[in-house]
Amino acid sequence: MRFSQLLLPTLKETPAEAEVVSHKLMLRAGFIRKLASGIYCYLPLGLKSIRKVEQIVQEEMNNAGAQELLLPMVQPADLWQESGRWKKYGPELLRFTDRHQRESCLGPTHEEVITDLVRKNIHSYRSLPLNLYQIQTKFRDEIRPRFGLMRGREFIMKDGYSFDASQKGAEATYDKMNHAYHRIFKRCGLRFRAVEADSGTIGGSFSHEFMVLADTGEDTVVICKQCSYAANMEKARAMETTAPQDVKELPLAKVETPGKRKVQAVCEFLDISPKNLVKTLIYVADGKPVAVLLRGDHAVQEVKLQNLLGANEVRLADDKETFDFTGTPTGYLGPVGLPLKIVADREVTKMTNFTVGANEKNHHLINVNIGRDFTPAQTADLRMVNEEDRCPLCGGQLELTRGIEVGHIFKLGTTYSEALKATFLDERGKETPFVMGCYGIGVSRAVAAAIEQNHDEDGIIFPLPIAPFQVMLLNLSTKDAEITAAAETLYEELKNLGIEVLLDDRDERPGIKFKDADLIGIPFRVMVGNSLTKEGKIEIKERAGGLTTAVSFGETAERLKQMIESAMTNCQI
Ligand code: ATP
Ligand code: MG
Repeated sequence: MRFSQLLLPTLKETPAEAEVVSHKLMLRAGFIRKLASGIYCYLPLGLKSIRKVEQIVQEEMNNAGAQELLLPMVQPADLWQESGRWKKYGPELLRFTDRHQRESCLGPTHEEVITDLVRKNIHSYRSLPLNLYQIQTKFRDEIRPRFGLMRGREFIMKDGYSFDASQKGAEATYDKMNHAYHRIFKRCGLRFRAVEADSGTIGGSFSHEFMVLADTGEDTVVICKQCSYAANMEKARAMETTAPQDVKELPLAKVETPGKRKVQAVCEFLDISPKNLVKTLIYVADGKPVAVLLRGDHAVQEVKLQNLLGANEVRLADDKETFDFTGTPTGYLGPVGLPLKIVADREVTKMTNFTVGANEKNHHLINVNIGRDFTPAQTADLRMVNEEDRCPLCGGQLELTRGIEVGHIFKLGTTYSEALKATFLDERGKETPFVMGCYGIGVSRAVAAAIEQNHDEDGIIFPLPIAPFQVMLLNLSTKDAEITAAAETLYEELKNLGIEVLLDDRDERPGIKFKDADLIGIPFRVMVGNSLTKEGKIEIKERAGGLTTAVSFGETAERLKQMIESAMTNCQI
């Protein structure tokens, strides 16, 4: 491809609309242009990168036994009514009415459509398992579309759905997909971790998110420094502390704590550690109040709380609600004598002689003990893991780092097949609902995530497997006949070797070409300029690391071929 003929509008200045680096660089490098909020045009170079991700996804999905199909983007409302999601999905689902007053929506995901397709066409266990996927434009009317391709309203997703005859079969399919996803992201040249994710009411660890590790990621990922344990914040567990043995329970006492409402203030005033104080937070779970107990230095993980309570929505009560529910102002609440349902974080049960609010303004209770002074209705792991915590598997130090979710695999069970009455006849002729799984990859987001992970102040540093081109060939003097002829010869040679090459044949100063090459981030830059006319040498510069090698003109193409092959082996499995 020739730069001079390509729609590749690079920009010197960073457009004001862009907040994160991938968005800035994709605009500047001429990969994307915004059409409307969260809706982008993919320009030729951006699309090339996207297509490379798609190709890897297709190869690995096909290898794992999945079949590609393509489902409609417009979906009728009745299917969503059948699954119950027409009401539940909320405003991210873009709904509209056609000229015949039929209601439809733009697909944000395709569980309903695929389940409908399968229920109409698959009737026997003999046709199972079945694993179907598509790569398609999705629409989600995100409340805050932002960061360019990272969180668009219209974006490209690979979504796959599996149908098995049994739980055991579904688990095996899940494992296969897990394996395929590892291969996909490795082959894309990304540093990533598969993390345990919350699977809501389905339970177990049958949900994994694939996170590209990048400081700018929106998600916090908990990883063990010692073993392979990794989880997102919603799911992350820590090793339980052991309760001290044979501690004598001291007599309960009420103490004055005038104006001391915050954990830190109470602890300073009473000269105790937050580790010896239990805070009481009032939550509203589907409209009902519940008191949540936590150690003073811990924080609630609301998804864990929501799962424990089986609630659709939980939120912290505001000060007024708290007072209305308890008769006590925020800051002086405690579990002793509290007329509300009490749930306690597991770590609270390891504590003895701790301090709590006295349910009376300006007062706290000291030497409180579970069992003697109050009993929680339920105890569970309800808290957020922090960096002081130890790995639940090996006891190693946990680390909190940032990630970008590029994939999600999820065991759906029979939620959709039951709702849509999608059944098959099993070996004994009994009607049985399909056991399903779903597997998503944010294809367009993956390209943005690759840039978030791999860039410097000059521009993108593309991982070779998903770079729009492998080689950028710079003709550094289009007015010089010898240099131009050499560049053209090299261009043909590289193409003949099957190397993807972008020739910068523009009539521009070398400085501008260097800047654009750095910005676009193609892994190998080949410079045809004065060193050719003076010394017969061509310079090859690696975008990552900046290593420059001078080679003779005649061996340039072969040398590049070797360099590409050896760089690709790092991304092979
Ligand atoms: P998020 O928590 O980031 O909103 P999600 O849980 O809604 O993601 P899924 O429904 O699991 O996402 O979709 C599968 C994949 O699609 C995600 O892993 C992500 O990579 C991608 N994706 C989801 N929403 C968007 C979006 N608005 N823009 C770009 N990619 C997205
Ligand atoms: Mg989402």
